[in-house]
Amino acid sequence: MGLKRIRFDKSEVDAVAVRFADADPQEVIAWALAGFGDAAMVVTGLQAEGMIILDMACRLRPSVRALTVDTGRLPQETYAFIDRVRDHYPAMRLQTLFPDHRDIEAFTRENGVNSFYNSVDLRMQCCNLRKVRPLARELERTDAWFAGLRRDQSPSRAHIRKIELDYTHGGIVKLNPLADWTKEDVWAYIREHDVPYHPLYEQGYPSIGCGPCTRAAFPGEDERAGRWWWETRAAKECGIHFSPVTGRTKRNGAFVAAMS
Ligand code: SF4
Repeated sequence: MGLKRIRFDKSEVDAVAVRFADADPQEVIAWALAGFGDAAMVVTGLQAEGMIILDMACRLRPSVRALTVDTGRLPQETYAFIDRVRDHYPAMRLQTLFPDHRDIEAFTRENGVNSFYNSVDLRMQCCNLRKVRPLARELERTDAWFAGLRRDQSPSRAHIRKIELDYTHGGIVKLNPLADWTKEDVWAYIREHDVPYHPLYEQGYPSIGCGPCTRAAFPGEDERAGRWWWETRAAKECGIHFSPVTGRTKRNGAFVAAMS
């Protein structure tokens, strides 16, 4: 017999979202961990925001479940950082997800290994195979997940709520405890609590993803400018996060139109 799933409908989540609209991140995390237990998961690309969620969650529950996706194209610094994070939170259960090798073999055979530079559609396909699908597989067994999104990171994130339904992943609960934090709040917490942070921040990267798709930012650029920097009119999203306004994933291009 399978485990009973913990489900919220829209009106229930709306009520909780209103209740926690001005709550501290720790209150949101504590509420979710108490209610969902091991059915709640911290999902992190090991950026500063995700590390804060992880830190707060580990203080509340040292053995919290967490996962990160190894796309196979991560910078070497990220692999070294994963080991550092494991050492820092020894009781945490960090799972590393990988893409299905058959997907990647077929995609690279057809398009080449660096085809993401050729079009938004190919880039979105690569992100879909290397990030979105592995995560979706795991979230099928999860009832609630934490993300480190902030509203002021980009226009595509301006309307996120601290607690919302994730329609992309079967209507499970998604928690964005840092939704109303600023970059300054993030770095103040990291300094105050001695949270480990990714070494590429010291080299001018304000946001960190796969090696070939991330560069340092120039002065005055926004936080996501270094992600897929060669794309000028596409949302700076990989497709994992959905729009709370439209209920659709923030993917674009013909590939996604074909998928929807
Ligand atoms: S960020 Fe780049 S390498 Fe990584 S999955 Fe997306 S397109 Fe592929």
